Amino acid sequence: MIKKMMKKIFILLVVLGVLFVGSCKKNENGNGNDNPPVVDPDKKEPDVEPEPEHVCVDFVWVFEEGTKCNTVGERYYKCVECGKIAFTERARREHDLYYVVVEPTCEEDGSTTTLCHNCDYSYTVKEAATGHQHCHYVIDLEATATETGRRHKECDDCGATFQSVDYAANGFSEHGKLSVEGTNLIDEHGEKFQLVGISTHGIQWAIPYYDYDVIDELHNTFGINVLRLALYTAEGGYCDPSTTETKRKFFYDLVCKAVDICTSLDMYVIVDWHMLGADDPSQGNPLYYKDEAIEFFSKFTEQYKDRENILYEIMNEPCGSTTWAQCKYYAELVIPEIRKNTDAVVLVGNPKWSADLVSVERNPLVGFSNIMYTYHFYANGSFNVSAITRAVKAGLPVFVSEHGGMVSDGDGELDLNSTLAWYRVLEENNISYVAWNLSNTKGSASMMKHGSTDYTNFKDSNLKEWGIWYKNWVRKKFGLPLD
Ligand SMILES: [Zn+2]
Ligand SMILES: [Zn+2]
Ligand SMILES: [Zn+2]
Repeated sequence: MIKKMMKKIFILLVVLGVLFVGSCKKNENGNGNDNPPVVDPDKKEPDVEPEPEHVCVDFVWVFEEGTKCNTVGERYYKCVECGKIAFTERARREHDLYYVVVEPTCEEDGSTTTLCHNCDYSYTVKEAATGHQHCHYVIDLEATATETGRRHKECDDCGATFQSVDYAANGFSEHGKLSVEGTNLIDEHGEKFQLVGISTHGIQWAIPYYDYDVIDELHNTFGINVLRLALYTAEGGYCDPSTTETKRKFFYDLVCKAVDICTSLDMYVIVDWHMLGADDPSQGNPLYYKDEAIEFFSKFTEQYKDRENILYEIMNEPCGSTTWAQCKYYAELVIPEIRKNTDAVVLVGNPKWSADLVSVERNPLVGFSNIMYTYHFYANGSFNVSAITRAVKAGLPVFVSEHGGMVSDGDGELDLNSTLAWYRVLEENNISYVAWNLSNTKGSASMMKHGSTDYTNFKDSNLKEWGIWYKNWVRKKFGLPLD
């Protein structure tokens, strides 16, 4: 029995051995054949991995060609890379806008044009030429004490040259810081000196005139060397109860602006605290707004203490029952505030609309230098030139910070003979004078034609009789040629 089983196992082992050897032989060439592998000479092995299949990620909307703007058409959501359309819909085609900007220059208008890539849509917004913003004067012929000179303007931005004008050597660069010696205003060389100029109307009405181009043209056309800035306290002015803090600051800044303009134009400038009777319940008394005046002059002179072309007029025209004693007391409060910052010339008003030098003469201010007393006259109906000669004889330095050839309400006919009589006295006594006024209002004292908004135009055609006459007078006085 065992022999029989042993024989069976042996046979099984032999069979398994044969099978084992066979399978190993098969693995030697991998195909199970005993023949060598067949090589195809045309078949090339690939060098790189095959591209992965493209996946669309970046799509844009594209309208069917020919679809007009503002119409509904077919549009496709297309793959940017392969152009495959993901989906289609109907939609309104809006403009595909772009902008062309032309910056304005000094003389040429600029524009922004909106255009469409798909249609001829075009919309232009103009931007006005900037004008010559940054200019300076270039002297062609230097003015001397006896001969006028000539200068022109050049634009720093575009190099344009224009506005060739005659000028007199009557400005700050020539005469410098002013002071008072005896009854005379003198310049930095110690020579007698006269300021001759124009006053603005109330700042609250004169806003367009507080402008570089206007003052520049006024200066060139009239040949004046001083501008008076009438900072009204009442009638909607600086201290009026109806004037808001914002408006007040606006007026303050406007005074600063005009002072800066005058400085840049080589002019002197008078900051005039233009108190007057109107709307003032205490009848033209400077003490009524004394706190405001002190605050204003403290602040202003602190800010402008290094400017030497400024004069300060601390009260325009006290009137009504106001006495010189009250004016004097006011001056003694305000002047020390100014003196904390500057010894600039201070102009002091007096009763009866600054026409009462007799009261001043009896009791002048003591202990202050560089003080002058104002005198105002309106030549039609006022022939009292001795008011001035008498004051000068008494040793009072006089400054005519306001005058006109007409009636004292700033209207009516001009009396030019009387005006000339006054001027003779002013000239003989080296007295400075400022004419009322730069505005386009109704009265005959307003130099510009009534209602004219051509603010930079000081040609005769745009001036009233007073403006034309005064312009010619001042030009002649400073030796400038007439038109
Ligand atoms: Zn794609
Ligand atoms: Zn379009
Ligand atoms: Zn320019």
